[in-house]
Amino acid sequence: MLLHIRDLKVTLPDQGERLHAVRGIDIDVDEGETLCLVGESGCGKSITALSIMRLLPRGAKLASSELRFGDTDLSALSESRLSALRGRQMSMIFQEPMTALNPVFTIGDQLRAVYRRHTGAGKREAQDRAIAVLESVGLTNAALRLRQYPHQLSGGLRQRVLIAMALMCEPRMLICDEPTTALDVTTQAQILRILKQAQEERRMGMIFITHDLGVVARIADRVAVMYAGRIVEHGARQAVLRNPAHPYTKGLIASVPKPQGAQPGTARLASIPGNVPAFHSEDARCPFLSRCPRRMDVCAVEPPPLKVAPSGQHVACHLQFEAKEAAIHDTAS
Ligand code: SF4
Repeated sequence: MLLHIRDLKVTLPDQGERLHAVRGIDIDVDEGETLCLVGESGCGKSITALSIMRLLPRGAKLASSELRFGDTDLSALSESRLSALRGRQMSMIFQEPMTALNPVFTIGDQLRAVYRRHTGAGKREAQDRAIAVLESVGLTNAALRLRQYPHQLSGGLRQRVLIAMALMCEPRMLICDEPTTALDVTTQAQILRILKQAQEERRMGMIFITHDLGVVARIADRVAVMYAGRIVEHGARQAVLRNPAHPYTKGLIASVPKPQGAQPGTARLASIPGNVPAFHSEDARCPFLSRCPRRMDVCAVEPPPLKVAPSGQHVACHLQFEAKEAAIHDTAS
């Protein structure tokens, strides 16, 4: 297994209290595999990604029973060894390329610096590598682009530069934090194609964070749905998208606009009422309780464990166990 995480927990300082942003999640990613992390803003997806890269903000506290990248225990690495690993073996693409790129250095300075720092290559070799990688992500006039500053490029081109930067050293693991959210659909499709191609060429493991289920349908092998710092449903892409089991996953899928067949002005877009709760202590309730249309008495006193549901996915919902018990009862009677 390329990435193996068990019982990851992260708390953040929040107005004199501790916000429980990630509350005991397990993640596995194999070589050549794409795991999509989905959920609304504030569910803990980006904090999970930053935990893996060990790039959490100041004051954050991370705990896990296992946090392994290949044979390396990430939780035991010194800052200097982590810094040698980041960019070389594990890379991350951030959502907003304008803030991820340094505005006072040219694209070439930034790409060459990453490569030279991690490989010890000379300037000429780094220049050749930068041109080759920029071309591989679909940039024309790569030599000219290297002399330009981030503000001279469009949003789509800047995102390609960020992808190129992440791929400069051929990482084994790539984490993409909503890299296509700010892009138009055509550019989004191109970026997804480039990432998938780069993954196939290098057998990279990939974690792809998104709230766009259309992107999930195109790129995921497996899907983990996060809610309030927990994984509430996890399984193969087709199983989760075609046969969602958790009420939250069902709500997310129902919220996707479906233009075909809808009469203008007659169809109401479904939504999940309320907001994602923030937890400042351990809580004995189901985190989705306040928004769930199927809640039961047990949901208010017992957090549902993530277990294999009759449909095959892992689901954290008491309804699944109720269904299973009913099925057992039916068979017995
Ligand atoms: Fe809804 Fe209860 Fe399932 Fe939570 S455990 S999602 S409240 S039915």
